[in-house]
Parts: sequence; structure tokens; C-alpha cells
Amino acid sequence: MRSSRSWLSTCIAIAVVLTACTPADRDHHHELLAFGTYVSVSFYSVTDEKNQEALAGLETLFGEIDENWYPWAPGELQRINNAIAAGETIAVSRRLQTLILAATDYEKLSRGRFNAGLGQLTELWHFHDLANPPATLPDASELAALLHAAPALDSLSWHRGELTGRNRAVMIDLGGIAKGAILKDCTDLLRTIGIDNAIINIGGDLVVIGQVGERAARVGIRSPLPDTPVASLEIADGEAVMTSGSYERFVEIAGTRYAHILDPRTGFPVEHTVSVTAVSDDPERADAAATALMVGGADEFDDLVETLQLEYALLIDAGGDIRLTPGMRERLKWLDAP
Ligand code: AMP
Ligand code: MG
Repeated sequence: MRSSRSWLSTCIAIAVVLTACTPADRDHHHELLAFGTYVSVSFYSVTDEKNQEALAGLETLFGEIDENWYPWAPGELQRINNAIAAGETIAVSRRLQTLILAATDYEKLSRGRFNAGLGQLTELWHFHDLANPPATLPDASELAALLHAAPALDSLSWHRGELTGRNRAVMIDLGGIAKGAILKDCTDLLRTIGIDNAIINIGGDLVVIGQVGERAARVGIRSPLPDTPVASLEIADGEAVMTSGSYERFVEIAGTRYAHILDPRTGFPVEHTVSVTAVSDDPERADAAATALMVGGADEFDDLVETLQLEYALLIDAGGDIRLTPGMRERLKWLDAP
């Protein structure tokens, strides 16, 4: 497993599981190191055998994903990107095929605000290698050339599980949807094993299966400006809570912080929006939508939640103003009126 390398951004400041757990005999809590971060796993009301089986299943799943979904080390996604760069056709595993196709759909639904074909832009800004931050901004002509090449997943063509790229500037970086996909796969695996009640939490992005004891799970939403709890909401069986934030992962160049969420139109990191939290019973949708809404910002919020079919979303802009979908407004319990 490639756990020493942190390749998933996490948002610990935003969503916190609040559900008060009176530890019960058959509750099990684990911290797994995966994707360079800690994943907390809680199973409620399960036998020791099921606990062991589920834990082993998750470890295997995380190992496979760590190995194959990271573009900057050997593995399937790197092989796919090499093939696209060489203009060659490559057979793609079923799971990566469905994930790349889902990312392509979200690119279309968000009018390109979500664009998982931007790996080269991530590289230009050095977000793939935060241990070695660059001394200067990306070279303007390189940036312009990349924007001109317009890398996007809609340039990929598929035939019976084989992919051919028609734009060699495309480099697939699934960072904006991977946590949702991982949580979706965890849910499918745990349900198959027969775990009825669980929470999987990747640094604040989480999915709830069933409930916690007699009650629905409750999650706290914190504002990063300043870092204070603002609200809480109940999360139903199968729902995921995903947050994108400009404060969670960044490079500092000549004293200025640049956040890791990039606007495909300008090639520059998003500054107008601080965080977006999305809730959906489709974790991939919530994840991709949260990233797209970060890029669209407050101006495009109403439009994007509609095209992305997202009922529950909250956006905090750089001035501290909050935008909510009507559904989210109804569900949130404010600690203080906003
Ligand atoms: P998230 O925390 O889900 O918003 O994911 C952020 C990650 O998605 C970044 O670290 C990049 O790997 C990738 N990313 C950055 N900008 C975009 C974008 N506009 N569309 C899709 N993925 C992006
Ligand atoms: Mg995302």
C-alpha cells in the first residue's frame, strides 16, 4: 500500500461525527492508514467475526485502490495516462471504467467546472508533490499552452472497455471524485458482508450505513472562518457528507497560499470560495459536485445544484457568506442563526 503518500485531500475542519456513542459491546472502532491519511471505521452492533471480516475486506479494498487510482506512481491509472499521452488504446478495468465515465458525466453536468482531465495542471502547480513546493508561479506560456489544448474527459472514446484518448494533454486525476468513489465501494462491500450499521470517515468526508444505536447519525458542520461549529444535521442510511475546501491543501509560493482546487477556465486556483459541503445518497455525486461548486462559486451555485441534481449543499464564500439549497436549509440545525 502507498500509504505514506497523501493523495486525498481531507477536510477535518468541516464535518465531525457528533453522534454520542455509548460504547456497546458489539461496537467496533478502527483507524486505518490508507491513501496517506487516517480512515476511521466504526461498526455498530456487529459480532466479532463480522467485525474481522469487514475490517479485512476494507483493508484489501483500500490496498487495491491505493495501488491503482493514483496517477503519480505505477499502477493502472498511470498506465492509462501513459497510453493517452502516447495516443494508444488501452483496456481499462471495469471499476476504473465506471469511475472515469462518472467523472465524464459530472464534467458535462457542471459545464466543465469539474474536470478530472486536468492532471497536468495539478502538476504545473505542484499539488502532486507538496513536499517540494515550487519557488515561482507556473510558467505563463506553459499554462497558456495547456489551457489552449483544453484537456477534458469528453475527448476520451470507449469501445468495449477499451479507451482511446484523442487529446494527448489529458491526464486523468481523480482526486475530486475519488473519496466519494471509495466511500461508495465501502458501502457496497459492507452491505454485502452484512454490516447494517457503520460510519466510514476519511478525514471528515464520510458515509453512514444504517444508524448509530437507536438514533440516526448526526454530523457537525464547522465554519473554517474562523474554525467554529455552526450547525448540525442528521444523516440517513446510505448518505455521504463530502466537503471541498480551499484551506485543506495548498502550496505557498512567494508568501501567498494557492489552494488545490483549480478553475479549468483560468488555470488558477479558486480564491472566491472557502468551502462547499454536499450531502447525497450517491457519494460520488456529492464529491464531484462539491468540487464543481467550489469552482463555480456563489454566482453559479443555484445553476450548478440544479444541473448536478444536488438537493443538499452549503457554500461558504471568502467573505464568510453562506449559500444553501432549500433542502439543506430545512435539514440544518443552526447553533446560532447565520
Ligand atoms: P476535492 O477535495 O474533492 O475538491 O478534490 C480536490 C482534488 O481534485 C485536487 O487535489 C485535484 O486533484 C482535483 N481537482 C482540482 N481541481 C479540480 C477540478 N476543477 N475538477 C476536478 N478535479 C479537480
Ligand atoms: Mg470532490
